[in-house]
Amino acid sequence: MKRNRLMWLTCAVDGADHAVSDAAFLAAQGGDGRFEALCRATVWASSLSAPPESRCESCATAAGEPTAAPADRRGGGLWSRLVSRASA
Ligand SMILES: [Zn+2]
Repeated sequence: MKRNRLMWLTCAVDGADHAVSDAAFLAAQGGDGRFEALCRATVWASSLSAPPESRCESCATAAGEPTAAPADRRGGGLWSRLVSRASA
């Protein structure tokens, strides 16, 4: 599995965070502020430092990140307790 470096840029248009690969970021240098996101959307980089509100699901999927909450989220507390106990 290749692991590209990604940057999450907040798009000034839709307000979502899109993942932009290193290569796409470099390719856009000297341009007019547009970046091609992993989801093929054109990201207009926002000059505002907005908090990460919503990630583009297509980009998250393309980046290999889980988009939905784990199905067994109820067990999260127990699992983290087990993990912390195991690593203690
Ligand atoms: Zn996207």
